[in-house]
Amino acid sequence: MSSYYSATTNKSMSFPPLESSEIADICVVGAGYTGLSSALHLAERGYKVVVVEAETVGFGASGRNGGHVGTGQRQDQQYLETKFGHEVASALWDLGLEAVDTVKHLIQKHKIKCDLKHGNIHFAHRAKYQRDLEEEVSFLHDRYGFDQAEYVPKERLSEVIESTAYHGALLDRAAKHLHPLNFLLGMAQAATRAGVIIYEHSRVISYAGTPVVIKTAQGQVTASEMILACNGYIEKLEPKINGYIMPINNFVLATEPLSDDLAAQVAPLDTSMADSRFVINYWKLSGDNRLIFGGGENYRRGFPSDIKGFVRKYMLQVYPQLADTKIDYGWGGTLAITLNRLPHFGRAQHNIWYMHGYSGHGVPTATFAGKLIAEAITGKLERFDLMANLPTHKFPGGTVLRWPGMVAGMLYYALRDRF
Ligand SMILES: Cc1cc2nc3c(=O)[nH]c(=O)nc-3n(C[C@H](O)[C@H](O)[C@H](O)COP(=O)(O)OP(=O)(O)OC[C@H]3O[C@@H](n4cnc5c(N)ncnc54)[C@H](O)[C@@H]3O)c2cc1C
Repeated sequence: MSSYYSATTNKSMSFPPLESSEIADICVVGAGYTGLSSALHLAERGYKVVVVEAETVGFGASGRNGGHVGTGQRQDQQYLETKFGHEVASALWDLGLEAVDTVKHLIQKHKIKCDLKHGNIHFAHRAKYQRDLEEEVSFLHDRYGFDQAEYVPKERLSEVIESTAYHGALLDRAAKHLHPLNFLLGMAQAATRAGVIIYEHSRVISYAGTPVVIKTAQGQVTASEMILACNGYIEKLEPKINGYIMPINNFVLATEPLSDDLAAQVAPLDTSMADSRFVINYWKLSGDNRLIFGGGENYRRGFPSDIKGFVRKYMLQVYPQLADTKIDYGWGGTLAITLNRLPHFGRAQHNIWYMHGYSGHGVPTATFAGKLIAEAITGKLERFDLMANLPTHKFPGGTVLRWPGMVAGMLYYALRDRF
C-alpha cells in the first residue's frame, strides 16, 4: 500500500538492522516524531543515542498522517480550564503554541523541504455548533490574548470553501500544515548528522535491568535510559502502559493534481481544514495541488480492502464537484488515543520513559515531546511532569475487554455524526 507521501519523499533513506551489541546513553524504541525528535534533541545535548525501529523510519503514523499542525492541545481550552483550572490550562496552551513553533523551528534550522503552509479552518457540520466556534474565538482572545483566530459565519463561508456542507467556521492563522513524511525524514537526517545511530527492521522484543538491556532478534543495546516511542504500534511490549491507549485505524486518500480552478474552490486560502464530526474529516492541498483527504476509521486489525473507495464517499459529501476526479492513492495508519484524549507521558520505571496517546494531535505534540524528554533527562523535569501529571485512565475492561466496549462506544458516536 503506497501512500502519496512515500511516493514523493525528498530522498530515500535506509539504515541497517541491529546485529551487534551496542552501548549508548539512551536507546529510543520507534522512529516516528516522538522517537526521532527525542533522539535529535538529546544528541544535541551531547548524549550518545541509538534508535531501534521495528520496520522503517516513518513506517508508523508519522509517515502517514494528515500533516495538520494544530495549535493548543487535542482538547479545547474551555475543557482544560473546567478540568484543571486556569493556571494549568494556560501552561498547556503555551506548550501547545511552543509545539507548533518547535515544528517550524526544526524545519527552518535543518532546512527541511516539506511543503510547510499556514492556517487551519475548523468547520461546524451542524448549525448548533456555530455558536461553539464563535465562543471559542472570543474565549481564546479574552483569556489568552490570542488574536490569530477568526470566526467565519455561514454567509461568509464561500470566502474559505466552495461547499454547502457546513454552517460556520473557525479560521486559525497560527496553525500549519506540511508533508509529514518529508518532515520526519528531515528530522532523521538531522539526527544522524548530530550523531544518532538508527537501526531499521529491528523489533525490540524484550528489555530488563539497570542499565537497561534492550533485545531484538539479532542484537542488543545496553543503555542508561530507554524511551518508548511506539504509540499505536506498541502492541504488548510494555504491559504497564498498554491499557491506557487504544490503537485505531484512520484512512486517507490523495487525488490526482487538481486544476487551478478546482484547487481554488477546494481551499481558497490553501489552509488545512477539518470538521466537527466525531469521526473527523480533515483535508488540505499538497504541494502539487492534490487534495489529501482523511475520513473514516475502523477499530479492528485490518484495513478496508478498497481504501480509496472507503474515503472517497466522505470526500464527496464535502466536495460533490470532485465526482470525476481520479483518486491516485489511498492508505491507512494506526494512531493511539487515550480515554480523555490527553497525551499519556510518564515512566514505567525510573529509567524507562514513554510518551504516546496523542489522540490525533501528534504532529506538533509528539515532536514537542522530544524537546520535553531532553529537558527531563538533563534534570529539568517541570515541563515533562506537567504533561505526565495530567490525569489518565485505563480503558475499562483491561487490554482484553477494552476492545468490545470501546468499539461499541466509538460506533455509537460515529453513528451520531450521521443524524
Ligand atoms: C491516518 C492518520 C492521520 C493523522 N493525522 C494527523 C494530523 O493531521 N495531525 C496530527 O497532529 N496528528 C495526526 N495523526 C496522529 C499522528 O500521526 C501521531 O500522533 C504521531 O505520528 C505519533 O508519532 P509517534 O512517533 O509517537 O508514533 P509513530 O509515528 O506511530 O511511530 C511509532 C514507531 O514505533 C515502531 N515500533 C513499535 N513497536 C516497536 C518495537 N517493539 N520495536 C521497535 N520499534 C517499534 C513502529 O514501527 C513505528 O514506526 C494522524 C494519524 C494517522 C494514523
